[in-house]
Amino acid sequence: MNERVTTIAGRETVCMEPVRYLVEKLRNVRDGATFDCDIAVQLLRCDEALLPELLATARALKEKYHPAVITYSRKVFIPLTNLCRDYCGYCTFRRDPGEPGAHTMSPDEVLSVAQQGENLGCTEALFSLGDRPEALFPEMRETLRRLGYRSTLHYLAAMCEMVLRETKLLPHANPGLLSANWIERLRTSNPSLGLMLESTSTQLAMAHPAAGTPDKVPALRLKTIEDAGKRGVPFTTGILIGIGETMEDRVESLLAIRQLHERYGHIQEVIIQNFRAKPSIPMAAWPEPDIGDLLRTLAVARLLLLDMNIQAPPNLTGLSYERLLEAGINDWGGVSPLTPDYINPEAPWPHLVELRRRTEMAGQTLVQRLPVYPEYTEKVMARGGLLAERLATAMDHAGYARAA
Ligand code: SF4
Repeated sequence: MNERVTTIAGRETVCMEPVRYLVEKLRNVRDGATFDCDIAVQLLRCDEALLPELLATARALKEKYHPAVITYSRKVFIPLTNLCRDYCGYCTFRRDPGEPGAHTMSPDEVLSVAQQGENLGCTEALFSLGDRPEALFPEMRETLRRLGYRSTLHYLAAMCEMVLRETKLLPHANPGLLSANWIERLRTSNPSLGLMLESTSTQLAMAHPAAGTPDKVPALRLKTIEDAGKRGVPFTTGILIGIGETMEDRVESLLAIRQLHERYGHIQEVIIQNFRAKPSIPMAAWPEPDIGDLLRTLAVARLLLLDMNIQAPPNLTGLSYERLLEAGINDWGGVSPLTPDYINPEAPWPHLVELRRRTEMAGQTLVQRLPVYPEYTEKVMARGGLLAERLATAMDHAGYARAA
């Protein structure tokens, strides 16, 4: 059987006997062989007959590099402000000023959530917020003036410093694009920072409408990730699948992340997040990636990223989220015993007892990690100051969260 495949570079190749050929490739991968982009794209599109072999290969690699352990971070979610100057087609988080639910948290609210999380054994304060709302909304400029800050990032830095000072939680901020100077500033209170690459594609008309998403330019996002690498800041990034990108785009995005990690060694985890449709978003009628698509993408990510940490959130898959373990992930991401997932409010976090049970049913041990992965704790400790003190208190001898 012949199969015509369009490659990343737009070339066309003809593969003879694709299933047998790909099975052979997968066996070689288990033995340490690399493979090219064309093969990765074919694996993303593989049929049901090949899927078990693909998943088994991904699991074998996961066990080789991260044997028998699945990690998660016990966190509180701090949506510092949901005002945002961007209008992403899939976003249910953002609000304009005056819209129902629009809110910028006060310092007291931030501290209250962090303290409640501390009492529940959380170790991460995940700060999520809209991108530079003050650039678009006078109301946000007024809010910041009242609070005594020049910009949302100044306010964020102060809130991260407050949480670090007043609680045992370690902040992890996801504020969107960052300059090198802001990375320097935030690294004093954040052991790691995050920014989803989402996709290297510039053709996502529904997800990133022209002129409506100035912060979603792939080159700018890659620059922030690179600037963090130049400063040795452990970094969380990832891709968002099912927002109009092609399979070639997915592979290209994963390779862009891998290349930055090869150069700077700072990508502490790669999130593979699936698009979820919600009634209130412009992409309400957009089809969601199905579980097969997600499993293929996770498995191909493992094949491309090898020993890197790969995360898939358990609350975006439906009831049988443990199936994601079949594709070689090694992290569930942040799971909160207190706050909802404000980005996907319709999707409750699984209860931690249930998460542990299902993880153990798959033959894995669930381990609580910190917002910085064990491989990077030494680097953060070397920064010294209060951040190093807090980290030393929070981690055990292996760099995971110390048992409460
Ligand atoms: S995804 Fe982020 S940048 Fe896009 S609209 Fe939502 S909050 Fe803003």
